[in-house]
Amino acid sequence: MYKLIKQDGKAKRGELHTVHGVIQTPVFMNVGTAAAIKGAVATTDLQEIGTQVELSNTYHLHVRPGDDVVRKMGGLHKFMVWDKPILTDSGGFQVFSLAGLRKIKEEGVYFSSHIDGRKIFMGPEESMQIQSNLASTIAMAFDECPSSVASREYVQNSVDRTTRWLARCKEEMARLNSLEDTINKDQLLFAINQGAIYEDIRIEHAKTIAQMDLDGYAIGGLAVGETHEEMYRILDAVVPHLPLEKPTYLMGVGTPANILEAVDRGVDFFDCVYPSRNGRHGHVYTNQGKLNLFNAKFELDDKPIEEGCQCPACRHYSRAYIRHLLKAKEMLGMRLCVLHNLYFYNHMMEEIREAIEQGRYAEYKKAKLEGFEQGNIKIR
Ligand SMILES: [Zn+2]
Repeated sequence: MYKLIKQDGKAKRGELHTVHGVIQTPVFMNVGTAAAIKGAVATTDLQEIGTQVELSNTYHLHVRPGDDVVRKMGGLHKFMVWDKPILTDSGGFQVFSLAGLRKIKEEGVYFSSHIDGRKIFMGPEESMQIQSNLASTIAMAFDECPSSVASREYVQNSVDRTTRWLARCKEEMARLNSLEDTINKDQLLFAINQGAIYEDIRIEHAKTIAQMDLDGYAIGGLAVGETHEEMYRILDAVVPHLPLEKPTYLMGVGTPANILEAVDRGVDFFDCVYPSRNGRHGHVYTNQGKLNLFNAKFELDDKPIEEGCQCPACRHYSRAYIRHLLKAKEMLGMRLCVLHNLYFYNHMMEEIREAIEQGRYAEYKKAKLEGFEQGNIKIR
């Protein structure tokens, strides 16, 4: 299902064939937490900004509106009117970061909803059942994401449990995909590598899960407070132990510079809330760094956010107009900034794919990073 088309150094140019179409990699997945991209971006906008994969959150949709509601509406694709690939996370990350009063047991996690305090249990089987109800293209295995400051002993025990949970996820997914009334019987399952900042634990775990034959492999638990250098060190250590002939996904990362560095280390799937979150605050990306459109110097600036950008904001509107909208708290200001930022990321991935195909990735990365450094794009 995954075809490695070309390698340039360690950088991978691939294609993942799914029941909802082909994903060209490296790819940046656009985050729509509760089945919508924050900033009033509709699925009808996504074609125009070059979105290949939409990402939704299992935990959020389970809590509200409920995965049973989504299932009754025919699955996420029908519900949000999007016929291309959707990836759902396992819910694990939110359970560990958002929910209150958790208790982790071998069978799964007991926690209370962050919306109404209701007691919920989620284990590997429940996560697979919820994602099957959502009928996403790619489901993520249920894992624990241990804190980056957790002790070595804690992390080792947690990772061992995550491996046992992966076996249960795989079995449950196979069962669900074989049922008559399952909406997407071709749902794919990605495993998640954990191990905090302990290289040896991560490498052992990568080797173990690589043998379990999943559809793709993610690296989780990074970009949670460690330095960028630490993250690159972990990638250098772990990626070579994940199967080359399967997609490699770095979860929750990151800045354009982080993506350029991770592609260079063999990662080809990404997702991050930065472009939409920054856009909602009037912070927009350009090839010369990031701009804050609230800045007074844009008051009479009739240029688009970025000259030559083909996004819906830059094709029509000036920095001065968008600045006015933001200051007047008009929702359109936020929306235009988010559309531009997502287009910027998606377009950069297109350039990355082309550079790898042409065997000039190192050169492309260098030029791109030099451009960003004129501004301050490395800063979150
Ligand atoms: Zn633009």
